[in-house]
Amino acid sequence: MTQVMDYQLFINGQWTPGDSGETMDVINASNQEVVARVPRGNQKDIDRAVASAKETFESGVWADKTYEERADILRTAAANVLKNKNKLAYLESLTSGSTIRRTMAIDVPAVADALKNVANWLYELPMLEHGMCLPWYIPQHSYYIREPIGVCAGIVPWNFPMILAAWKFAPALAMGNSIVMKPASITPVTLLELAKILYDSGVPAGAFNVVTGPGSSAGNYLVQHPDVGKIGFTGSTEVGRHIAHLAADGIKRVTLELGGKSPVIVLDDADLDMASSLCLHAFLYHSGQVCESGTRMLVPRAMQDQIVDLMIEKIKGMKIGNQLDPASDLGPIASAEQLETIMRYVDIGKKEGAQIAYGGNRMQGEQYDKGFFFEPTIFVNCNNQMTQVREEIFGPVQCVIPYDDLDEAIAIANDSPYGLGGSVCSTNATRAQWVAKKLRTGTVWINTHHMLRPDAPFGGYKESGYGRENGYYALMAYSEVKHVCQSLTNDASRYRYFRVIGLAR
Ligand code: NAD
Repeated sequence: MTQVMDYQLFINGQWTPGDSGETMDVINASNQEVVARVPRGNQKDIDRAVASAKETFESGVWADKTYEERADILRTAAANVLKNKNKLAYLESLTSGSTIRRTMAIDVPAVADALKNVANWLYELPMLEHGMCLPWYIPQHSYYIREPIGVCAGIVPWNFPMILAAWKFAPALAMGNSIVMKPASITPVTLLELAKILYDSGVPAGAFNVVTGPGSSAGNYLVQHPDVGKIGFTGSTEVGRHIAHLAADGIKRVTLELGGKSPVIVLDDADLDMASSLCLHAFLYHSGQVCESGTRMLVPRAMQDQIVDLMIEKIKGMKIGNQLDPASDLGPIASAEQLETIMRYVDIGKKEGAQIAYGGNRMQGEQYDKGFFFEPTIFVNCNNQMTQVREEIFGPVQCVIPYDDLDEAIAIANDSPYGLGGSVCSTNATRAQWVAKKLRTGTVWINTHHMLRPDAPFGGYKESGYGRENGYYALMAYSEVKHVCQSLTNDASRYRYFRVIGLAR
């Protein structure tokens, strides 16, 4: 029996009890044990956090630091994240169902990388640019400065709680903003831990606040708060659309990273071993609970059986089990609700006539019965009109669509409301790049999938969102640009702008 950890909100550099006194349970998806409790934050908690963020912003204690000073603090934070790697990885795995092998190898280092990357960018960015002196007006000097927006709101889902949060707070803080973050209700713990680490690393009180609570109340109120100027949101397209409407009313800046249904196109020259591994990795990483999962697999008709047979052979070699066991390749689905969604889509697929080549069931047996485990599932002979092929399932379900020629495959790949990611598997670099050019998605991988870098822009085309996270693009998204124009003359008689209304002749 795990001891239940009690957390408070992190506001103004301090652990702060929630206003209502109510709490939300956080569970381990492998056995449904309650492992932590966090406050059910309400509007008063959001008001306190936003007020603290605003006061810190306006005081200049963070925003007015030089970029070198901010970069130093963010690098210290990155080092401290790595010092706490074991604890953070354990808590992330415990509460999100992510395998401990992955949180140790990928998630915690990725948070440190996000901080280091923005710190490095601060030295590369043109914080100040100069305009040309235009001789036909007046002697003048124009310069353009990058400035923080003010108070930002960061709202994140439950699948990669730390990484997706870092992609918001790292660029927001780097540019001198303050931020209030709201994690998903089921995975709030590691963001609270990160808040303390950043504060201990020198990020001043109020610059980084975390309020836990339901999205429909606390999150909804946060994005409408009049003192919030920028919203960074990752989550479903449905909630993203709602947030875009709310943000439009307040003319707030918004970055939306939403859902996906990414295609994986296997070309007829692909290596079969590579293609089968790539197609598995594309839909089984974090048991398919990834926004850019490759879950529409387009294969030449003649290759479908061979590749699927290889995939099934490889699945049989995978260990599915408790996420805290370093031997587990795949862990549980993150919640009962998500498990139900997956099972519902699998039923729909069966009813619509897709054939199951492997899986399709909730896992049973002593080590699975108390948790939310679902078999890796492969549907074959799908077409792109089937519900489970068009809609995001967010689970370990691959839909194989056989194709007859490459133009058809590209047309099918692009026939989706989403446009987040996609991949191409080929031994011919030129053909692969040609396909990459044709895909209408924010990221295209060639002979790989899921490879996201802290310096590479990440975001969606179409209903997968707008704006880009990471690197230079994120820093632009968390800043305003100001033009300062200074006349270099005090001689009003030479001022052509005055002449147009007769002030000078
Ligand atoms: P969700 O949209 O239900 O919730 C995301 C966050 O928004 C949560 O913190 C939630 O509490 C909050 N929220 C919910 N309603 C809100 C409201 N009315 N106002 C403000 N905040 C609100 O998504 P989820 O179920 O947590 O995550 C899964 C979804 O996230 C999938 O659709 C997936 O594709 C998407 N996702 C996208 C990316 C990306 O980078 N594009 C990455 C990961 C996940």
